[in-house]
Amino acid sequence: MPPSEFDVAVLGGGFGGYSAAIRASQLGKKAAVVEADKLGGTCLHTGCIPTKALLETSGLYHKVHDRGQEFGIVAPESSFDYERIAARRDGVVNQLWKGVQGLMRKNHIEVFEGKGALEGDGRLRVGETEIQARAIIVATGAQPRSLPGIEFDGERIINSDHATLSRSLPGSIVIIGAGAVGVEFATFYRQMGSTVTLLEALERLVPLEDEEVSGVLLQTFKKAGIDCRVGVRVTGARVGEDGVTVEMEDGSVQAEKLLVAVGRGPRSQDLGLDKAGVELDQRGFVKVDEWMRTSAPGVWAIGDVVGGYQLAHAAVHEGLIAAEDIADRRVQPRNEDLVTRCTYSTPEVASVGLTEAQARDRGHDVKVGKFPLVANGRAIIHGETQGFFKMVADAGTGQLLGAHLVGVQATELIGEPALARLFEGDAWELGRNVHPHPTLSEALGEAAMAVDGTAINI
Ligand code: NAD
Repeated sequence: MPPSEFDVAVLGGGFGGYSAAIRASQLGKKAAVVEADKLGGTCLHTGCIPTKALLETSGLYHKVHDRGQEFGIVAPESSFDYERIAARRDGVVNQLWKGVQGLMRKNHIEVFEGKGALEGDGRLRVGETEIQARAIIVATGAQPRSLPGIEFDGERIINSDHATLSRSLPGSIVIIGAGAVGVEFATFYRQMGSTVTLLEALERLVPLEDEEVSGVLLQTFKKAGIDCRVGVRVTGARVGEDGVTVEMEDGSVQAEKLLVAVGRGPRSQDLGLDKAGVELDQRGFVKVDEWMRTSAPGVWAIGDVVGGYQLAHAAVHEGLIAAEDIADRRVQPRNEDLVTRCTYSTPEVASVGLTEAQARDRGHDVKVGKFPLVANGRAIIHGETQGFFKMVADAGTGQLLGAHLVGVQATELIGEPALARLFEGDAWELGRNVHPHPTLSEALGEAAMAVDGTAINI
């Protein structure tokens, strides 16, 4: 095969794209990745990784600075140096970035730097280079979108990329949108001492999560001093000398900066998708089936560009499905009900499967078990007792339909109920799993036992 001919070419080297290339290579395929910016993509460079590095710092600072006394720590002079916070953030990213580059070499994956576009019939063009591939996987991701009449200037009106890569901290900020980006940055800025106003159009924070979870987050945010306003309609934003004024139907609010966090739109333009016969939906997301096949034979698509849960681990799940389908080694089709959702606010929010309301809508007779963290020893030791773990099960069969966690380390703990769902397990089985003591995981078991009214510690 000549050097620019491949079995599989992946357009976009983010977490989903490079994982798909690795799986293709593991399955004996000659694979290439085309990357316009940096291997690792949004997740590694402006998303999951740097934001969680920032949240690690803000959580630590908040605990020592604002809550040290509770733990017997006397640190009246504690303060921070944002340059060093940013340097640590960048260090974390760079370490992982080197790792990804190494993985490409280890798996003999050729990396083409530059913006690629499909030309039809398995051809991809990257600048002057033409690549021929038997299968193409589109994994170009998504980018922050704004609201009509509100444009990002990167200074006063910013998106999550600007906020993540910033080398300074605003004294005050308004955030529009209380999805994952909005509540994570609200947590970060508030823990660092900024004044934060959070505006959400719908009636609750994290509106896709279980309603009771949203309630706990709102209560905790308010207690932390975040000015949360729900059911708000933003009508515009004006940049002035010392800040931004955000106008709403019933008033206005001013701050040094405005972060717009109202979702991400697909990067599906200027990729030659039309030339290759790849259909998009009305919002520009690439249409795919459960094996991630697009409408064009020989072209698959995965990750944020196909919509659904725009989460890095969902993109990887989809990338593996596409690579395995290409290699005729199908294991499991895409199943969004098995995708864990994690939000790294304080308290953390994590879920899998159906909410109580969704389960009822799908016709289940539902049983619910709930365990408050205030009754869990480890949560008390952490000094983080806000929140609960909740299990939703089918009343007839006992099958676990969903798990909804709000509280400390929820994002680490959601894997266990997710595995129970993958195994089509019942709530009582999760309850019978012998959880170590003292751990937060005991609260998972207790919540599962509470489904049948047999929790021990409440
Ligand atoms: P999102 O879609 O999760 O949330 C956007 C929020 O903005 C919604 O609650 C929506 O109701 C609100 N909104 C929309 N228009 C509004 C308006 N005019 N005024 C006020 N509120 C308005 O989007 P996001 O938070 O920007 O995140 C983008 C994507 O990235 C999401 O898919 C998200 O799941 C993902 N992400 C995930 C994580 C994580 O998993 N921890 C972190 C960051 C981002």
